[in-house]
Amino acid sequence: MSYPNIQLLIDGQWQDAEGGRTMPVYNPATDQEIGRVARASKADLERAVVAAQKGFEVWRDMPAIERNQIMRRAAALMRERADANGRLITLEQGKPLAEARIEAKAAADMIEWFADEGLRVYGRLVPARGNLAMRQMVLRDPVGPVAAFTPWNFPINQIVRKLAPALAAGCSMLVKAAEETPASPAALIQAFVDAGVPAGVVGLVYGDPAEISNFLIPHPLIRKITFTGSTPVGKQLAALAGQHMKRMTMELGGHAPFIVADDADLELAIKIAGATKFRNAGQVCISPTRFLVHDAVADEFARGLTERAQALKVGDGLSEGTQMGPLANPRRIDAMEKLTKDAIERGAKLLTGGARGASQGNFWQPTVLADVPLDARMLNEEPFGPVAAIRRVKNLDEAIAEANRLSYGLAAYAFTRSLKNADLLTRRVESGMLWVNTPATPSAEMPFGGIKDSGIGSEGGPEAVEAYLNVRAVAIMNL
Ligand code: NAD
Repeated sequence: MSYPNIQLLIDGQWQDAEGGRTMPVYNPATDQEIGRVARASKADLERAVVAAQKGFEVWRDMPAIERNQIMRRAAALMRERADANGRLITLEQGKPLAEARIEAKAAADMIEWFADEGLRVYGRLVPARGNLAMRQMVLRDPVGPVAAFTPWNFPINQIVRKLAPALAAGCSMLVKAAEETPASPAALIQAFVDAGVPAGVVGLVYGDPAEISNFLIPHPLIRKITFTGSTPVGKQLAALAGQHMKRMTMELGGHAPFIVADDADLELAIKIAGATKFRNAGQVCISPTRFLVHDAVADEFARGLTERAQALKVGDGLSEGTQMGPLANPRRIDAMEKLTKDAIERGAKLLTGGARGASQGNFWQPTVLADVPLDARMLNEEPFGPVAAIRRVKNLDEAIAEANRLSYGLAAYAFTRSLKNADLLTRRVESGMLWVNTPATPSAEMPFGGIKDSGIGSEGGPEAVEAYLNVRAVAIMNL
């Protein structure tokens, strides 16, 4: 399948970067260069910001019902194009085609939900304390042009979680998507262009990430920043946003505990652990990473997860039957090598995997380690790969203490048949999302985001739209 060269979208026009500058794009399953992506200059960025302001003024003033119709048309196009867009994701990011198609199709659902949520952005009237001729109004209106920075692990989904609520609120958005996976974001943005979104309402740029964020965040026309990526980069961008008093949403790293109590449905826990751990080769911010298993069931759990890891068919995401693809870039392979070696040196037992896969491409074997010591780097840094670290715990209190030990607080999973345990977990586990006896169930209507070092704000539910609204108070005295 051919792979397109990707340009910038500025003021409704796809165009080359100034001077025709480009960067290579690689297929992570083959290491082959498959295309080129435009690399924006500062002059390109300036034009993109000015266009975003122009687009904002048009979009803000369009009736919500018309914005809704354009968004719904974009959603329909995403649904129609899900197969082709899924192939783009697999080519540039590596995940199996079936997973990629689901991602491409899920975009349609999310855009529709937020399109409708945009119809329900209301203000309110508040009775005045004194003179009844006074009309007091609370207005909620869009913050303005937004700069969005999105990563490569879900190249479409990570943008949709920002773009759909922002557009629903009446904002324009300039997206800087990941340079490693540029084609599927361009296909998403194209759906909005084809649906009739006015010029400048949506823009797409690529280039040097630090150069772009250093330009866009302080820019006076940009009113809000939204970033998804690692905690260290998120903190840098949040500091810059703070210096310029910009609103921000930060969806950052996680290190999700997966707690298995002694009364858990073990078969269910193993099945869900196997499916969620290796999805997208573990490159998921809510991927379970610290398996905290009660002593009484730890051996059986480790055996079950190991069997599931060994049964996975690893290969090129485009090949029939592939269940786990390559990692998205060589940096992840280096990280897997270092984290696994460190854990084993500190005394962890390697149950399966622990090495590179095929000779070409960024393949890493599905890996399970048991009795991983707490000082192992793997239990402290976000692994972001197909490695499961199991630790025995004596009781639920120990599991909760370990779950809360790190500064991360994004997602958590737990398995127990007891309501008392489930209640304790609900109250005590410090995470933005908790799933008990179920795999992760993120949806448009549920909040999605972290606490502690995992971020600020939410990218799901009505809260996601709130993040793009100003609240203003107006009083009018009727003379
Ligand atoms: P990274 O921290 O260098 O980059 C993460 C993302 O941030 C990339 O998309 C990158 O383009 C962007 N970025 C980096 N520096 C930037 C800057 N100065 N301004 C704007 N954007 C910038 O790491 P990486 O090697 O690409 O990814 C590895 C780590 O990133 C993982 O270990 C994981 O913690 C994190 N990550 C998290 C998510 C998520 O969904 N939360 C997604 C991808 C990566």
